[in-house]
Amino acid sequence: MQFIDLQAQYKLLKPLIDENIHKVLDSGKYIFGPEITELEEQLAKFAGVKHCLACSSGTDALLIPLMAWGIGPGNAVFTSPFTFMATGEVISLLGATPIFVDIDPETYNLDPEKLHNAIHKVLIDGKLRPRAIMPVDIFGLLANYDEIDDIAKHHNLFVLQDACQSFGGAIDGKRAGAFGHAAATSFFPAKPLGCYGDGGAIFTNDDELLEVMKSIRVHGMGSDRYDNIRIGINGRLDSIQAAVLLAKMTVFEKELEQRNEVADKYNARLSSRFKTPVIPEGYFSAWAQYCILADSPEHRAELQNKLKENDIPSMIYYPIPLHLQTAYTSLGYKVGDLPISEAIANRIFAIPMYPYLSDEDLNKICDVLLG
Ligand SMILES: *Cc1c(COP(=O)(O)O)cnc(C)c1O
Repeated sequence: MQFIDLQAQYKLLKPLIDENIHKVLDSGKYIFGPEITELEEQLAKFAGVKHCLACSSGTDALLIPLMAWGIGPGNAVFTSPFTFMATGEVISLLGATPIFVDIDPETYNLDPEKLHNAIHKVLIDGKLRPRAIMPVDIFGLLANYDEIDDIAKHHNLFVLQDACQSFGGAIDGKRAGAFGHAAATSFFPAKPLGCYGDGGAIFTNDDELLEVMKSIRVHGMGSDRYDNIRIGINGRLDSIQAAVLLAKMTVFEKELEQRNEVADKYNARLSSRFKTPVIPEGYFSAWAQYCILADSPEHRAELQNKLKENDIPSMIYYPIPLHLQTAYTSLGYKVGDLPISEAIANRIFAIPMYPYLSDEDLNKICDVLLG
């Protein structure tokens, strides 16, 4: 059994994916071919947002808006510690300071009340200037943007949605990408919408921000191609990756439904014995991962071993919250500072989740976990 069976999807879409890739090969337009514009239009429409910028990875999709806002040394950016390293990394790369805020024990996303307190603490300390909030939509479930946006408005902070796991997810029909001042998603192969390499996209309704981000995406270019007007990066998406994504967009909505069906079946079988994911009323998850909680770290190890003996892969997202990563030693956090994130990190594990997971495999996984 595989944790995510990407080949099952490729088999299904092979004629279209191969055709799209060959079109790029024949055209010779490997960079900024027409596939890029077409993809950006489709993605913007899908997310219900005015603009989409395809870019080189989810990490760069997070980095570019922060650069455009001039986030840097002396600035505080508030985010979740229960996430992939890239979320914190982009803040630190710009010389700003990540302030890790503990998560909600039910949704595993940024806790608005703790966010409110963390902003106040930074203001009282007076050393850093709060500039932005980066909520993370962990495992495909969107963060509580209703409350986060209110807090951001009150303190005049930018909101950058880390939608790297949640593209296709929504709150009351408003889709990931449409929250905050800008949003970033990732097309890493294992994400709900993945390409065959690295890729990402930024979403915004802000025309001015779009122009700055377009410039940053290509080394800070201006209207004269040999006079760069700001420091940028090489943040482009390849035409071939856009071609792959265009093929996958033809089945993406259906796959989101299939992911939700898989999750419903898991919930039905597992929720009497395990703490299964909580999806608040009105929320639609993109189900990047399906995670359950064991009773303790020892119990988790036992369950993972049992799964392994039955040829069932499982993973731990995330075993070490960002505030306790070695790279962040200098920030001075210690064990116990963000207790919910730490407790969840000690007990959580992910089981296979993808649109093409068969009932037979799903039942085998549940039998082993419940046996
Ligand atoms: C995957 C991921 C990223 C980074 O995306 P890449 O495309 O791998 O650079 C950032 N944040 C979160 C929450 C992610 O899951």
